[in-house]
Amino acid sequence: MKRSKEVLIIETNSPEETYELGKQLGKEAKAGDVYTLVGDLGVGKTVFTQGVAAGLGIKEPVSSPTFTIVQVYEEGRLPFYHFDVYRIGDVEEMDEIGYEDYFYGEGVAFIEWADLIREIIPKKHTRIEIEKNLEKGFDYRRITIENIE
Ligand code: ADP
Ligand code: MG
Repeated sequence: MKRSKEVLIIETNSPEETYELGKQLGKEAKAGDVYTLVGDLGVGKTVFTQGVAAGLGIKEPVSSPTFTIVQVYEEGRLPFYHFDVYRIGDVEEMDEIGYEDYFYGEGVAFIEWADLIREIIPKKHTRIEIEKNLEKGFDYRRITIENIE
């Protein structure tokens, strides 16, 4: 895998800061962009995604899709496809929902727990990893954003 050198590391100390970072990214996102979100349960993937939705101009509340793998929001600047594949049993479930229309479509795709479906993630995507470090405080998060081609 060829990796570009562009890696951005941002540290946040509150959910609001993580939300703002997501919002900034949502303002800059382009049609066809695919983002993967990686990190433990409760690390802030959904908080980040909520910021992205706000940055795209989506007003309705965004939460993790609990009973569906993908939630589609059409009211923003671009269509927004929010995936949470935490409960996926098999990658074939992605075929059943026609994931290619979302990953290779005209909107912006965000995939929480993307490592569970690694084999179908498009080669070109942006990987966002969120990590805690309890030594730096309960609300500290280290966010690594990396363009992968
Ligand atoms: P995930 O989607 O990764 O499972 P959530 O976004 O649902 O996680 O939850 C993250 C939790 O961590 C929220 O309760 C949020 O308030 C809290 N939190 C504390 N500090 C931060 C931070 N710096 N960034 C994001 N969330 C934070
Ligand atoms: Mg979540």
